Amino acid sequence: MFDLNLNLNVGGSAEPAAEQMPASPRPDIENVIIIGSGPAGWAAAIYTGRAELRPLLITGNELGGQIALTTEVENYPGFEQIQGPELVANMQKQAERFGTEVLVDYVTEVDVNGPPFTVTTASGRVFRAKALIVATGASPRRLGVPDEERLTGRGVSYCATCDGFFFRGKRVAVIGGGDSALQEGLFLTRFAERVWIIHRRDQLRAGATLQRRATESPKIEFIWNTVVERINGETKVESITLRNVVTGKVTTMPIDGVFVYIGHLPNNQLFMGKLAMDEQGYLITDKLMRTSVPGIFAAGEIQDHRFKQAATSVGQGVAAAMEVEKYLADLEDRAYPGRK
Ligand SMILES: Cc1cc2nc3c(=O)[nH]c(=O)nc-3n(C[C@H](O)[C@H](O)[C@H](O)COP(=O)(O)OP(=O)(O)OC[C@H]3O[C@@H](n4cnc5c(N)ncnc54)[C@H](O)[C@@H]3O)c2cc1C
Repeated sequence: MFDLNLNLNVGGSAEPAAEQMPASPRPDIENVIIIGSGPAGWAAAIYTGRAELRPLLITGNELGGQIALTTEVENYPGFEQIQGPELVANMQKQAERFGTEVLVDYVTEVDVNGPPFTVTTASGRVFRAKALIVATGASPRRLGVPDEERLTGRGVSYCATCDGFFFRGKRVAVIGGGDSALQEGLFLTRFAERVWIIHRRDQLRAGATLQRRATESPKIEFIWNTVVERINGETKVESITLRNVVTGKVTTMPIDGVFVYIGHLPNNQLFMGKLAMDEQGYLITDKLMRTSVPGIFAAGEIQDHRFKQAATSVGQGVAAAMEVEKYLADLEDRAYPGRK
């Protein structure tokens, strides 16, 4: 067994390192490789591991995925409250108990002409597999301003559904002008004392109904033509520095929370031109989590930009694993017809 926790902080950056290779000998052709260590990846690992497929999971640079970026998780069934990093660490432990081999590395290339499919990693390892589960998730687009990263989970959030509850009676800013910004801004009015929607233009991109609801809300106020220059605070968000893009005026606004909705980017680079994607770049899957290439399955946010929750990603990971099991059984039947 390869103990990842000895080498890494969950939620931290996992540098690909040659010495962190699986200890046990691997088969020439893997049954299944899972790419990604977020909730979808671990769920797929638990199920394929329990089906005795000896899955190999390649973590990527963000061990634990997005949920490891947050502190309290209060909407994952079975846990009234759990820290994001602890939740994924539990998933990892469970996956390893069922025989998942965990490789701390980053996939740089996938040859989808298979099976077997060829997976190459940043440390130069090359694996072949009869099936793949792609669980590379998505990344919220960041503002890219000073201290945003340091204060993430300490007042900076990319998920109102997840973190809105912690801002009861507080003052929050929502950054963005699209559907998500307005939808989440409206959601935040349930908790927050006041919500400012800060948009860099003087017009919203969001749909008419959302615009009407937001402008009618007594708790929402708009700040137009304005961008965030930096987020300030020692241990938590205390204020934001704003710049009016028309007048150039810079102001500091006291605030308790900053919710960023300027887009979401699927981590799809490996599959550009290789697997079918929708217009936003998310992998297209059917109900059985199959991508456009037989033998390659996808789960979690890499193929879902609607629900975007740990629990839904886990469910999709489970479904992909169960379908991989069936797919491999069929493959075996074809290779050895008539064998019982
Ligand atoms: C701040 C924050 C708070 C949240 N809070 C909650 C909450 O309270 N409750 C809730 O249900 N949801 C919450 N969410 C949403 C939840 O985290 C996501 O829905 C979930 O993590 C998606 O899981 P996933 O496995 O699909 O992908 P991700 O979590 O995005 O994980 C993707 C994984 O793929 C790996 N990867 C990417 N590219 C490669 C590559 N080339 N090679 C190998 N690996 C790769 C990454 O390293 C990562 O491990 C929150 C999200 C954020 C950002």
